[in-house]
Amino acid sequence: MAARAPAPGGATRVAAVFGDPVEHSLSPAMHNAAYAVLGMDRLYAAFHVTPPMLAAAVRALGALGIIGVNLTVPHKERALRMVARLSAEARMLGAINCIVNRPAGLYGDNTDARGLERDLASLGVALEGATAIVIGAGGASASAALACLRRGADEIVIANRTPARAAALARRLRARLPHALGGAALSVRGLDALSDAALLERAAAVINATPMGLTQARFARIDYAHTPRECFFYDLIYAAQPTAFLRPAIALGRRVADGAGMLVNQGELAFELFNGVAPPPGVMRRALWERLGRDLRQP
Ligand code: NAP
Repeated sequence: MAARAPAPGGATRVAAVFGDPVEHSLSPAMHNAAYAVLGMDRLYAAFHVTPPMLAAAVRALGALGIIGVNLTVPHKERALRMVARLSAEARMLGAINCIVNRPAGLYGDNTDARGLERDLASLGVALEGATAIVIGAGGASASAALACLRRGADEIVIANRTPARAAALARRLRARLPHALGGAALSVRGLDALSDAALLERAAAVINATPMGLTQARFARIDYAHTPRECFFYDLIYAAQPTAFLRPAIALGRRVADGAGMLVNQGELAFELFNGVAPPPGVMRRALWERLGRDLRQP
């Protein structure tokens, strides 16, 4: 499909991402690719918004007529308190990754859990009645736990460096996700869980929801060999090369994926919220593929 968006002009409407840092964001490439194919007079920009400036930046959305913004690190939790209305999902997760500028006021939603759930489904990761280990206890971990529950997991183990933070997350999930949890077991551990043979032997999926491996080369110790052959390793981090979390799993022949598919899916969902139309299938994925320099299915 040929790009045919008009050149930006006086009538161009703007969407954006707020983050600190934000220079690395691949969202502008994905959203602008969809605008180009749809021929929409819209532009998606990245704004470097520091935490002390977040409230002012969010207040400015109405004044500037910005159609919507994505929120990335470190704004997802604080921004929740800055919007007039929240989706049920955002309330459940205690964080928002997008704000839609609606006539009735700013509306916060969170497309991360649905983005991951879709990716797990397209990868054929079946978690019916299974155990999933989620590493980390931040906003992304809450989304990962919800995605695993929706894929049918029966047991979620949250493993985190600071067990008290994992315990606080588990309390919030129990309070806010009673329906999603159903009869599933939710427990918390330190990172020692990642070398607990009895736990690893029953894991159907191990999901990294921390920046480990991105901020430093090494990952916490994981006894990969104790996991079953069919165990799936999913890293929310995405990169041009296999991540530090995924490399040992690949060496053992385990199935793996990084977070590029989740990124595309949450972006497609946000595009539809901002613009009222779905992006053309495959366009945002292709834009990300070009930026990462690889096929999304081959981390
Ligand atoms: P966050 O709120 O900052 O949470 C970070 C978690 O990682 C915390 O539980 C923290 O443990 C743990 N952690 C950080 N550094 C660590 C280290 N060196 N060793 C061990 N644990 C460490 O971040 P988040 O918003 O949940 O995001 C987590 C990751 O997911 C980020 O890398 C983000 O880019 C990625 N993500 C990807 C997508 C996607 O679409 N692919 C979407 C959302 C997020 P403590 O509690 O002990 O501090």
